Amino acid sequence: MTIGIWVLGDQLNLQQAALAGADPSIARVLLLESSSVVERRAYHAQKLVLVWSAMRHFAADLRAQGWTVDYLETERFSSALGEWVEHHGIQELHVMEPVDRGFRAAIERLSLPLPVHWIANNAFLWSREAFAAWATPYKQLRMELFYREGRKRFGVLLDEDGEPLGGQWNYDQENRKPPTKGLSGPEPLWFEPDATTAAVIEKVSALQERQGLPGSPEPFRWAVTREQALAVLDHFIATRLPGFGPFQDAMVSGEPTLWHALLSPYLNLGLLHPLEVIQRLETEGLAQQVPLAGLEGVIRQILGWREYTHGLYHWFGEDYASVNHFEANAPLPSWFEALGGSGLRCLDTVFGEIKATGYAHHIQRLMLLANYGLLAGLDPQALTAWFHRMFIDGYDWVMLTNVLGMGVFADGGRLASKPYAASGNYIKRMSNYCKGCSYDVKQRTGPKACPFNSLYWDFLARHEPELKRNHRMGLVMKQLSKLPEEELAAIRSTAANHRALAAAGSN
Ligand code: SF4
Repeated sequence: MTIGIWVLGDQLNLQQAALAGADPSIARVLLLESSSVVERRAYHAQKLVLVWSAMRHFAADLRAQGWTVDYLETERFSSALGEWVEHHGIQELHVMEPVDRGFRAAIERLSLPLPVHWIANNAFLWSREAFAAWATPYKQLRMELFYREGRKRFGVLLDEDGEPLGGQWNYDQENRKPPTKGLSGPEPLWFEPDATTAAVIEKVSALQERQGLPGSPEPFRWAVTREQALAVLDHFIATRLPGFGPFQDAMVSGEPTLWHALLSPYLNLGLLHPLEVIQRLETEGLAQQVPLAGLEGVIRQILGWREYTHGLYHWFGEDYASVNHFEANAPLPSWFEALGGSGLRCLDTVFGEIKATGYAHHIQRLMLLANYGLLAGLDPQALTAWFHRMFIDGYDWVMLTNVLGMGVFADGGRLASKPYAASGNYIKRMSNYCKGCSYDVKQRTGPKACPFNSLYWDFLARHEPELKRNHRMGLVMKQLSKLPEEELAAIRSTAANHRALAAAGSN
């Protein structure tokens, strides 16, 4: 009996469930590199290089471990899969349950002439069933409660009585310092492409010429093997973890990574498992006496937020993808696709960073890009698709909850307790972008007014009846009610002018 194990591009771990229980002497492993993926989604060039190079390296690792591996470069996975099954006389196909929903449906639509065994996905700490069991009793789910449960369940950062280390579950308040003058983080660990990666860069460059993919494939410096990903983790613990906390939310021009961990691409590909990362952070962070606020902050990102958004993705189900609470429908301005040219220094700085590497940190994503989308009333599905294609760590499961729920409140509050709307004031406080911008962050009316200001008040005014009912919006809604009528009218007219300008360059 020959068993076929199909390893998907985000399942690159020797311990993944379909491989872990199989016998290499009777199994053939398949990895499929299908270039038609870009017809459906024009991915950032660096993301394609990362995924395909990591897959090719993983195939080599598997061979070194004694597996028989077929690595196929193909136009379409459907025809290549059928031919492979027939050619090798595969009698049973084993696949670890894909994280992204659409993929299993796509495989099932092929009606393959052999049984397909779906093996429960073990790439997360919480299985879908465990998450559902936790979520069921709640009327309103909140990440903080889920996170505390995770800390207890996996025994992370607890004292001997099972209470949170230091007496508090959450130290986020200490992790929001604005940037100081000249703030700069340690140099991240990057890698030179080897021959395998160079070959992928060549292939992606050719694809880019034919199909106009966004981003630059070179210079490419991401890790593409488990060994390299572990080196990034070591480097983070040694050089970046001690300073990670305080400036977690800061945004600095020319400093795209500051103290951020840069581990999400590797966690999302399977090169690292979240539990091993959390355990190493805890053990080594405590041994190094890293400030608890920073250590708890980075662990919360993985044990809390990452697990929570993955759990919610499956818990909310398929319909979640089409939520549009505010009925926003403005098309994305062309600067999103071009990754530049908005004239807003904050956006253009981050677009430039995304263009180079496919990366921006969580506050740039939430408080600049998604915030702009929320305030300007951009179509939430178009914005989500853009995030999915552009980010080096973007997948369906990542972006649906992060963009639709947290970013633009398109789910009406199923995920976040209020819309994360902020004016230029927040950006001025948390970044150095406003200095040198052609807009004036102090103005909210007229052609020089910072668009985040006029759009912010316009957003609040547009949705006033609803937002007034949200107690977390009480303070700002009070400020809105105190704005003189003529001033609000001038602000709203400035916002309308900006929206018209953005729409003129829309895709
Ligand atoms: Fe962005 Fe406004 Fe600051 Fe310019 S002034 S960088 S548009 S927040």
